[in-house]
Amino acid sequence: MQVPVLELKAQYASMKDDILEQINEVLDAQWVIGGPKVEDLEKRIAKLSECKFAVGVSSGTDAILNSLMSLDIGPGDEVITTPFTFFATGGCIARTGAKPVFVDIDEKTYNIDPTLIEAAVTDNTKAIMPVHLYGQMADMEPIMRIAGIYGLAVIEDAAQSISSTYNKKPAGSIGTTGCFSFYPSKNLGGIGDGGMVVTNDERLYQRLKVMRNHGQTGAYEHKYIGGNFRLDAIQAAALLIKLKHLGKWSAARRKNAAYYNKKLADSPVTIPYIDEQCVSIYNQYVIRVPNRDKVFDHLRNNDVGCMVYYPMPLHMQECFAYLGYKEGDLPVAEKAAKEVMALPVYPELTNEMQDYAIKSILDFL
Ligand SMILES: *Cc1c(COP(=O)(O)O)cnc(C)c1O
Repeated sequence: MQVPVLELKAQYASMKDDILEQINEVLDAQWVIGGPKVEDLEKRIAKLSECKFAVGVSSGTDAILNSLMSLDIGPGDEVITTPFTFFATGGCIARTGAKPVFVDIDEKTYNIDPTLIEAAVTDNTKAIMPVHLYGQMADMEPIMRIAGIYGLAVIEDAAQSISSTYNKKPAGSIGTTGCFSFYPSKNLGGIGDGGMVVTNDERLYQRLKVMRNHGQTGAYEHKYIGGNFRLDAIQAAALLIKLKHLGKWSAARRKNAAYYNKKLADSPVTIPYIDEQCVSIYNQYVIRVPNRDKVFDHLRNNDVGCMVYYPMPLHMQECFAYLGYKEGDLPVAEKAAKEVMALPVYPELTNEMQDYAIKSILDFL
């Protein structure tokens, strides 16, 4: 049996006509960048995230970068974040000229450990950037409390967690901004790159829109140095169709996760820990196993798609050597990087496929 790591073709086939019709509308109107489809998507994502404002951007990466730039974060500033994340989180901080300050993670949720944040705050700290990893939100209550004490912005990297909740509040609605990615493998994936920033701060919203378009404040007048962070209308058109299915897909992912949980309960496998305050959308279903690399090879050899998110924490990346971290500095993240492994969890996955994946793991262990 073959269990692919991702199954985007089946999903596309189920909505092909609707998507093509939407794309045709965009092409006939020739309003291909910004325009009504982008605005419609912005309204819907704002509503879904229970935020007043949303700004469509070119990717999740640019959602983070635009948030930082719109908050005037740059050289001399520090931003506290997690080392256990996709590169863009730390990469964007560094690209503004600010210094990423990595704080270790909670060993159960893999999200930033809020009890370690306060010790990392200095006079130069401007923001905290929690990442809602694998579809589960970070522990936002203590994070917001620390941010309040020190006057820090909070940028939620919610690239993996659109519509997940923490104490019933959706991702993106608690911090200063929330950043979403529509990369095709995310729960709400486009047909190319795309992203969105949400916020409840009207001034920041205006700034995010200006920065998305080269910091242009009037016709060829530039009060700020921004970028080209615009979202194209074809992406918005496809996402408008897909957004209608997001709730159903997330429920199917949770069902698949529950099935794995049940079958792996009495085994050497550590199943995901979901905090009782959180509802996860399982962008990934991540287990911990002894001998991860061997289990991984075994599964791959048996046609079970699996992935490692992420094999090397950011503080160990060559490009961040200048920050001076060394192995052992953030031990929980370093250990997780050696032990975690994601199993397929997409909505189209069947119980038969899951049984095969489970058997392949348990046979090996
Ligand atoms: C995917 C992802 C990003 C970047 O999003 P892109 O749309 O690929 O630029 C940022 N942070 C995290 C945690 C991600 O998973």
